[in-house]
Amino acid sequence: MSLPPKVKSFLWRACMGILPTYELLWRRHMRNDGLCHCGASEVESVSHSLWSCSLANDVWLESGLNLQKWDRSIPHFFDLMEAVRRRLSPEDIGLFSCLAYFIWGQRNKVVHEKLVGNPIVVVKQAKNLLKGYKESVPAVASIDSGTMRSHVLVGPRGRWVPPPAGCCKVNWDIARDSAQKLCYVGVVVRDYDSKVLAARCSPIQALPLGVHPYIGACIKVLKFSVEMGFLDIYLEGPPVKFMQQLHVQHLGSSIEDMWLEEIQFYVQQLRSFTLQSAVNGSNFAATALAQVGLSSKLTKVWVEDSPLELLGVL
Ligand SMILES: [Zn+2]
Repeated sequence: MSLPPKVKSFLWRACMGILPTYELLWRRHMRNDGLCHCGASEVESVSHSLWSCSLANDVWLESGLNLQKWDRSIPHFFDLMEAVRRRLSPEDIGLFSCLAYFIWGQRNKVVHEKLVGNPIVVVKQAKNLLKGYKESVPAVASIDSGTMRSHVLVGPRGRWVPPPAGCCKVNWDIARDSAQKLCYVGVVVRDYDSKVLAARCSPIQALPLGVHPYIGACIKVLKFSVEMGFLDIYLEGPPVKFMQQLHVQHLGSSIEDMWLEEIQFYVQQLRSFTLQSAVNGSNFAATALAQVGLSSKLTKVWVEDSPLELLGVL
């Protein structure tokens, strides 16, 4: 199947059932229930979120694909993909895949950014991505490696070192506006191929006096990683003493300790965890994203996609 790589990797994760749906978070004891945000009192499984949820269904109706009579209660997304492969033309399989990708993107915008779904926009995004990809494939194939090399930017991104295979590197940093007492955190999650898996910028809530904003930032960053299903991580950011001491330190009952306890909780959800201090511009993308947050005053989440704001930085 000739599909954009980000769509392929998304389909694989959807078929494996490892998208961070409410059902998955509930099974990991990170939510009290797995019910979908749409209010239909159904568990938000992968197949619910991409297929039977009203938000998804509106997109399928809008898509023009001949799916109206298909069973809406297919329990596993994998089985749905099998049916798609058997019953749709190669062209329509491509569109179906891109639509599923953007339905998940819409779901994340609704859940994390409290936006309202718009099926027309989702269908447009999917069609544009597919069209752009088809047009770009022959062009990319004809560029020889010598030309490709000359396009590689030399800059701060050269100093970023990827994590080992199987792990993710989570870069984070904060941006502060002391006058307005505002603080934003930027997070960029990349794999060993340097591909951006997820990114986010969001405000850090005002912590009690004396509690360092890095603590609030680390809570946000770790919570984001765990909820997104990134459980083997290299955490790279500004040097943070309190994180290094987390394992040895017996927490007391001060206000700061209460926040550290929350960090400890998220660290315990991880399978493997390595702490690194950023050096020589290795953290450039996260710093840039924190500034994007501070200047736009918005919470933004990118899943399986690079922030446009970081073009030229990554
Ligand atoms: Zn739903």
